[in-house]
Amino acid sequence: MIRENLEKILKEIPPGITLVAATKTRSVEEIRQAIDCGITDIGENYVQEAEKKFVEIGKCVRWHLIGHLQKNKVKKALKIFDIIETVDSFELAEEISKYAHGLYPVLIEVNSAMEPQKSGVFPAEVENLIEKISILQNIKIMGLMTMGPLVENPEDIRPYFRITKKIFDSCKQINLPNVEMKILSMGMSDSWRIAIEEGATCIRIGTAIFGPRK
Ligand SMILES: *Cc1c(COP(=O)(O)O)cnc(C)c1O
Repeated sequence: MIRENLEKILKEIPPGITLVAATKTRSVEEIRQAIDCGITDIGENYVQEAEKKFVEIGKCVRWHLIGHLQKNKVKKALKIFDIIETVDSFELAEEISKYAHGLYPVLIEVNSAMEPQKSGVFPAEVENLIEKISILQNIKIMGLMTMGPLVENPEDIRPYFRITKKIFDSCKQINLPNVEMKILSMGMSDSWRIAIEEGATCIRIGTAIFGPRK
């Protein structure tokens, strides 16, 4: 099942796109199968869940944090994750910079649909936040991440991917130390093709690889 799903997806993804397997709720066994089939990057949402899996899987893949991070979990997160995709405040970035050794890569999470209950920065505030974070010692801003709203028809998410790409492009123009806009992380199981059409360089897929979550 996992093998067949992955073979199909990997065949369809154009070169240069990073596939992150979104592995929340998946067992170590399932994740190992995905790694055997060529997965090099995995995304976890919770530090505690990732910790348990990290003990068994270790550094043979790149670990992406794709869920919201609380400040009091930063130290633990840095021990596991190679990149944090969900930075959405100066205070969180400050905490990461405080405990990171060297330039730690992060993405800024954009709340592209401006949903009040969701994490991420509003589109109009992204550049400002990047400018503020760029003065921190141990952080390297590598790009943007967005979830987009929950929609029934995947096509309805396209405008939000487009907005995020537009911000990504305009952030490329600002010349700041430790800002290197290279990664645009957007698109999930039902929207990754649309995300790639709209300029994603990194897609995060769970269900389409592992089947429905129980
Ligand atoms: C769960 C999750 C995904 C993958 O979602 P699927 O619909 O299962 O592909 C991608 N990104 C984030 C942030 C997630 O939490």
